[in-house]
Amino acid sequence: MTFYCKNLDINTDQCNKLHSECIMGRPGCVLEGRVALSEELEKKIAKLEEERVERVRQRKENV
Ligand code: SF4
Repeated sequence: MTFYCKNLDINTDQCNKLHSECIMGRPGCVLEGRVALSEELEKKIAKLEEERVERVRQRKENV
């Protein structure tokens, strides 16, 4: 089975919808709730979300 997502930038492997790394099934992904994620991917997603929150916090501090 193959899957094509219109949000994927094939040159960078980045998701144009989430402005982050493409991880199928992550929160906000068009496949959210439709695919099972491994424990390893769940941890990676949690780490990316922590980094995103930290970037937003730092941006607010610099305003
Ligand atoms: S994270 Fe989901 S919505 Fe984004 S490019 Fe990947 S498959 Fe598409």
